[in-house]
Amino acid sequence: MAPDNAGLAVTRARPDLLASAQGVECWDVLVIGGGATGLGAAVDAASRGYSTLLLEAHDFAKGTSSRSTKLIHGGVRYLAQGRVGLVREALVERARLLANAPALVQPLRFVVPVYSRWSQLKMRVGLAAYDLLAGRYGLGRVRGMSVAETRAALPNVRAEGLRGGVEYFDAQFDDAGLAIALAQTVIAQGGTALNYAAVTGLTLSEGRVAGVCARDAISGQDLMFKARTVINAAGVWVDDIRRMAEPDAPPMLAPSQGVHLVVDADWLPGDGAMLVPETSDGRVLFLIPWQGKVLLGTTDTPRQDSPLEPRALETEIDFILRTAADYLVRAPGRGDVRSVFAGLRPLIAADPDAPRSELSREHVIRVSPQGLVTIAGGKWTTYRQMAEEVVDEVLKAADLPPRTCRTQALALHSAWPEAGEALHPRLDLSEARVRHAVRTQFALTVEDVLARRHRALFLDAAAAIAIVPEVARIMADELDRDAAWIAAQVEAFIVTAEGYRCTPATPPGA
Ligand SMILES: Cc1cc2nc3c(=O)[nH]c(=O)nc-3n(C[C@H](O)[C@H](O)[C@H](O)COP(=O)(O)OP(=O)(O)OC[C@H]3O[C@@H](n4cnc5c(N)ncnc54)[C@H](O)[C@@H]3O)c2cc1C
Repeated sequence: MAPDNAGLAVTRARPDLLASAQGVECWDVLVIGGGATGLGAAVDAASRGYSTLLLEAHDFAKGTSSRSTKLIHGGVRYLAQGRVGLVREALVERARLLANAPALVQPLRFVVPVYSRWSQLKMRVGLAAYDLLAGRYGLGRVRGMSVAETRAALPNVRAEGLRGGVEYFDAQFDDAGLAIALAQTVIAQGGTALNYAAVTGLTLSEGRVAGVCARDAISGQDLMFKARTVINAAGVWVDDIRRMAEPDAPPMLAPSQGVHLVVDADWLPGDGAMLVPETSDGRVLFLIPWQGKVLLGTTDTPRQDSPLEPRALETEIDFILRTAADYLVRAPGRGDVRSVFAGLRPLIAADPDAPRSELSREHVIRVSPQGLVTIAGGKWTTYRQMAEEVVDEVLKAADLPPRTCRTQALALHSAWPEAGEALHPRLDLSEARVRHAVRTQFALTVEDVLARRHRALFLDAAAAIAIVPEVARIMADELDRDAAWIAAQVEAFIVTAEGYRCTPATPPGA
């Protein structure tokens, strides 16, 4: 697995990207949506040598792809359901990501505390099978732990009734960071990726999709692009795009909301993550060290709508805190939550007419009568495999020379942050890092920097709000914007950020 894309610098500013988007008469592949799925498809198509354009309505990873549990994993729960092929595929992808993006994806040690001999045996057998499936891609042996070892690994774990633990390994990453690395890789491979460019309609020629209309949110300009093939990778919004061609298309998705809480690192002392194997709603709960904080989650709440900024329900917050409290000696309360964020899973709706091959998969690819190729579902871990499948599908329908996939060992860009004096004592974000985000990471709004180039909003919403005027000022200097822009950015960010707070507002500077 020798990476073959390392070290390329990608520093093209937006006017340049817009010009190159408009400089191609007809794109081979046009991708709608700049989350894990669309970015993966664009990297795949561009690296096979097809001219490739990706359009993202908001910012890269603004949707579900910045709101995950940040795990690159096989999914232990699929194993319990006997979906061995799916788990094996994800474990192979985990190994590829560790090799291709070592600066963005790292192994993580998990400890499962157990309170009966039976559950220790069950966990050991289940996780040993997980390890076995990983084969040569395994990250470390599964082993049972004594009570003393478990308490040493998880000093805050509830001790009464504790029978021991089970240790296993998986991997973790920064989801928004990987998305930016993928966008940079699209460009390094000769493609173009544009954020803040929403697709507003599909154009048809002789009954076939032949391009899209879009709107540049930065200039307000209307844009038109021709394309030989169009991939719809709009996440929980894929049905909106499908209905641009087929107004009566039945929904493909049944979204479900998942919430995470972020607390300070001292709520999970020790050197690993903790997995609560069985919650009262029959799921698992993760407590994961991440970027100097601890992530607690998640939930599974069906939703009928798909807002861009979903908000956590009070019941979801209470559920996570209550479940964590059952397993911790000293447990966080609402006042200890630094940030709360919600994401929508693009789950495939149950369809009695779906082909059998779809039922065994986590994602589906459907081609409409007009030739629109829609891909939805899946998870971050398998984005590369999904991309390979969707581009293969596109080639079946399109008049393009067939070329094989090249992403199995393609190195992904690492967006290295620059050091410097922190803008806030609780955040490691510096002025140099803000300038770097604008110059090399496509950041165009204050929220891009504070939510996805740096994860301030997800880590500590109050601290992010406290530095928003300073970040806006630095960005205005970089982007040549005026005081009115600064005021509008500050106001818009504060409105969004209030939704990430769990407690009543505290004054700026807190
Ligand atoms: C709570 C939760 C936890 C998860 N945890 C994990 C995990 O630990 N590990 C893992 O592997 N997976 C995890 N997942 C799954 C994973 O996050 C998703 O499968 C993945 O991010 C989906 O990516 P996507 O690109 O399909 O959707 P999105 O990220 O939502 O991207 C779709 C994009 O399309 C854009 N778009 C919409 N309409 C238009 C338009 N008209 N024009 C242009 N662009 C448009 C949107 O703005 C959006 O950016 C989790 C998911 C959730 C909800």
